[in-house]
Amino acid sequence: MTRPYNFSAGPAAIPEEVLQQAAAEMLDWHGSGMGVMEMSHRGKEFISICEQAEADLRELLAVPAEFKILFMQGGGLAENAIVPLNLSRAATVDFVVTGSWSQKSRKEAQKYAAEVHTAASNEADGFTTLPAPASWQLSRGASYVHLCSNETIHGVEFHELPDLKALGCDAPLVIDFSSHVASRPVQWERVGLAFGGAQKNIGPAGLTLVIVREDLLGHALPICPSAFDYRVVAENQSMYNTPPTWGIYMAGLTFQWLKRQREGALTGVAAMQARNIAKAQQLYDFIDRSPFYVNKVAPHCRSRMNVPFFLQDESRNDAFLQGAKERGLLQLKGHKSVGGMRASLYNAMPIAGVQALVDYLQDFERLHA
Ligand code: PMP
Repeated sequence: MTRPYNFSAGPAAIPEEVLQQAAAEMLDWHGSGMGVMEMSHRGKEFISICEQAEADLRELLAVPAEFKILFMQGGGLAENAIVPLNLSRAATVDFVVTGSWSQKSRKEAQKYAAEVHTAASNEADGFTTLPAPASWQLSRGASYVHLCSNETIHGVEFHELPDLKALGCDAPLVIDFSSHVASRPVQWERVGLAFGGAQKNIGPAGLTLVIVREDLLGHALPICPSAFDYRVVAENQSMYNTPPTWGIYMAGLTFQWLKRQREGALTGVAAMQARNIAKAQQLYDFIDRSPFYVNKVAPHCRSRMNVPFFLQDESRNDAFLQGAKERGLLQLKGHKSVGGMRASLYNAMPIAGVQALVDYLQDFERLHA
């Protein structure tokens, strides 16, 4: 029996092979007599799990040696505070506001940064486009520039990260890549720090990934809690306090799954990128051709991970969701702040799942148009 296709925005579907392996190892990890949740984080068994996960992630995302990989807790929203606590140096920070998540980040930074400046915002057009980097009003001497590289709710994605240096800005770029981490390669030469919760593309909720350039460590404000000081976390190999051991283990299994993925000659994250482009294209093409459904985001910045869409006749929303559920297509309801539907197509969603959704969209339209 195949499992239903789960389009949740997060916590989201995990590859079945990963779940099967975790189930098989649940009571006894590799003959140790212990399950992973029952191990000391300082024992050799868990240290080997953690080191392997970090090495695999470094390889998959081609993370350069001058970046530290930190396994933290608190999710994306805690990072909205932890980033300014570590990086703002009580100076001005710049925000590019492209949807709900960068809006939330800007609001939280106001508690810690001396000044928060909005360098660009597309709020006026309902977050359906992205402001062109050449139009950004960047501050002189800002301690960092924050953007959300994939807005999970509005379905807007930077397909290419901005090159701040080319814009005459020396500040490090901070990206919230929570909802598209590991869906495509990262242009690290353009990034100072990337953070993301694991619960969309990497594993269960509870683990937060931070990848930070070494020169940005050691500048935390005095009020920064020690457990959130990136330098302290880095110096202790993410084990200053007890790390989210289960989350790290599940992420590690997902990284090994990712390394096994192939698309033609491509492997790993490059293979995922090719597959994710094909998946998103298939769904957007169908929605654009249909008079029954609509996606309002400008084509050049549509998210490949989160596809918000609306039925032209919203009185049919409940019937649509009920019919989807009966076909084994789960969690398609849109975020409460925008309504409509949302299909999240993270790495664990196979092409067959997108095809099943498109078939359903077509059948529902035929029945009701
Ligand atoms: N940033 C983005 C882009 C997100 O999608 C989310 C969660 N949906 C968050 C931040 C917040 O993450 P958390 O709930 O783990 O704090």
